[in-house]
Parts: sequence; C-alpha cells; structure tokens
Amino acid sequence: MGWGDCGTDSKGRPIGYLFEATCDYPGCGKKIDRGLSYACGNMHGETTYGCEQYFCREHLKLRSEDEYYNEDGTPLGDELINICPTCSLEFDLDRQTEGFLTEQQYHEREGQIITYKDVGDLYDLI
Ligand SMILES: [Zn+2]
Ligand SMILES: [Zn+2]
Repeated sequence: MGWGDCGTDSKGRPIGYLFEATCDYPGCGKKIDRGLSYACGNMHGETTYGCEQYFCREHLKLRSEDEYYNEDGTPLGDELINICPTCSLEFDLDRQTEGFLTEQQYHEREGQIITYKDVGDLYDLI
C-alpha cells in the first residue's frame, strides 16, 4: 500500500511514485515519476488548484494558499502548494478576484508579511 501505486488518472495513465513518466509541460520531456512530489496541486486527481498532471521541478511553482509570504516574496505558511504554470496563472487571477485581493492590498503587502484574514472567504467564491 502507500503512494507507490495509486491506480490510474482519468486518462488511464498509471499514477504513484513507482511509475516513471515525463513532465506534462508541452515540449519539456524531463524524467519524473507520477508521485505526489511532482503532482500539480500536491495531490492526485483534480484538486482546488491542481490539474491532475505531473511536472518537473522547473515547471512547478510554489504558491501559498493561506497568503503568507516572506519579505522577498517567497511563499511560506501551512498551505503551500506546487502548481504548474497554467494553474498558477489561474491561482493568481483568483487572488485578484474583486473583494479578495485588490490591487491596493497587493501594494500594501509589498515588503512585509501580511496575514490575509479573509482567506476563508475565497473558498466560498470558487
Ligand atoms: Zn496544473
Ligand atoms: Zn518540465
């Protein structure tokens, strides 16, 4: 048992870290496996921000779901997710949804760690 063999995804591809694969980013072809560490959204299957695909390190971007960031802009916090370039674009767009993260809030948090208290509301929006 465990995460070695997790069955197949919706396209019938075997998933789990026992299975060798190549990065799903178009034209990449880097060798990975279909374990959780390469899964977009940190989990098999479709997740809130993930897309059920597997990517190499180069094509996974780290985002903070709970909106904690270091001064240099690197994400921290309890809810870190690795997502692919396409999903991270959607992720950032979500954060700019009116009433969640305004342009002003983006500017306000520049250079400081901001606890975004209304993050729970986001889950009602999407
Ligand atoms: Zn993705
Ligand atoms: Zn790649």
